[in-house]
Amino acid sequence: MNHERSRDLYDRALSSIPGGVNSPVRAVRPYPFFVESGDGAHVVDADGNRFLDYVMGYGPLLLGHDLPEQVQSAVQSRLSDGPMYGAPTEVEVELAEFVARHVPSVEMTRFVNSGTEATVSAIRLARGHTGRDKIVVMQGGYHGAGESTLVQGESGVPAEPSSTGVPESFAAETITVPFNDAEAVREVFEERGDEIACVIAEPLLGNCASVPPVEGYLETLREVTDEHGALLVFDEVMTGFRIGGLQCAQGKFGVTPDLTTFAKIIGGGFPVGAVGGPAEIMEGFAPTGDVFQAGTYSGHPLSLTAGLETLRFAAENDVYDHVNDLGEKLRSGLTDILADQAPEYTVLGTDSMFKVVFTRDGPRDLDGQCEAGCRQRPDCPRYDYCPKNRGDVDAAETERWERLFWPAMLEEGVFLTANQYESQFVSYAHTEEDVEETLEAYKEAL
Ligand code: PLP
Repeated sequence: MNHERSRDLYDRALSSIPGGVNSPVRAVRPYPFFVESGDGAHVVDADGNRFLDYVMGYGPLLLGHDLPEQVQSAVQSRLSDGPMYGAPTEVEVELAEFVARHVPSVEMTRFVNSGTEATVSAIRLARGHTGRDKIVVMQGGYHGAGESTLVQGESGVPAEPSSTGVPESFAAETITVPFNDAEAVREVFEERGDEIACVIAEPLLGNCASVPPVEGYLETLREVTDEHGALLVFDEVMTGFRIGGLQCAQGKFGVTPDLTTFAKIIGGGFPVGAVGGPAEIMEGFAPTGDVFQAGTYSGHPLSLTAGLETLRFAAENDVYDHVNDLGEKLRSGLTDILADQAPEYTVLGTDSMFKVVFTRDGPRDLDGQCEAGCRQRPDCPRYDYCPKNRGDVDAAETERWERLFWPAMLEEGVFLTANQYESQFVSYAHTEEDVEETLEAYKEAL
């Protein structure tokens, strides 16, 4: 494969953009390919190489790279009326109403411009609502680049910054716990429940290989927050309108949070974020409440038009059946391939998300294992081996995944997210033939 043009562009980018990229995850080694265009389920790079794409912009592109006619024409017509105004538009009301109709926890929505802005705003609202400062996050969860969640540390104690530039005093307001450990979160609440404003969690660890919740874990988060007067915030930036279809992951798992953060799909590929919840909490935001939150671009007409038309298209067509069916086929095909080639590895993911984790140990007998991605079934022979939290994914062969497997898949013409942790996404543009081709590529690259 020729990468000459991408190499030259990266050479130039290194002189004009820090690290040559505008988001660190894109800085794959030795250098990223620069994209020229998207085409259905494929991307074409600056040297004309064509890759089957499961990155899908890190999640927003539910429909693939070609927007359906109804989405494209709505965006173009919106654009011809001017890009934005600094005054409200009808599409903001329509999208807020759509979200409230479909997502169990949401009555009102405040639109912002990114997932980071959504989580920062939700945390501020939770603090304002409860009058408390501490928050609890999951180790291995990712909530964007905000100060309160760029943290690391031992379970149950004040965290440390995970980035230079985050003051220790900010990080100390955050407490981390391992995902899927009900006892750990209960202990934290027993010790300092009256200081905690909220627990913020992805309903499944989408930024940690899609580790799913064990039975009862999300219910425990709901119970302890209720018992101690704290809010439960589900970060559905990745899972929103992907897992569980239009009802989102909270509908699929049957646990209703107080607040929900969205981004990615809700903007149809354009910059967006949102916080949703009941009026009683949401009206804490200015101008009705005292929690300041604002943005020049918030509720941007182009993003919201793209998001609304994408979601309408999904509601009116077989989008979720299609992507979930292909996701299932991929995960079950991968499960069969691993049984032959790498029985210790684990397939994670649900609906249209998937990831193979290069776990080091597995059971001798695979009989009765989950057939299309881990479901955390206690009677599955893999149950004691499949990842439950960040530590378990860290213990996998992460270097092998990144340094050997990922480039080998790229050579096979398949573009996966570039490390062991980020999930991968099936879009409405993918086909059964794409799935077959992908499974063949895994056979070769594993
Ligand atoms: N929350 C989750 C669960 C995410 O996956 C991400 C981004 O991937 C964010 C928050 C941050 O969103 P953004 O990159 O739009 O700021």
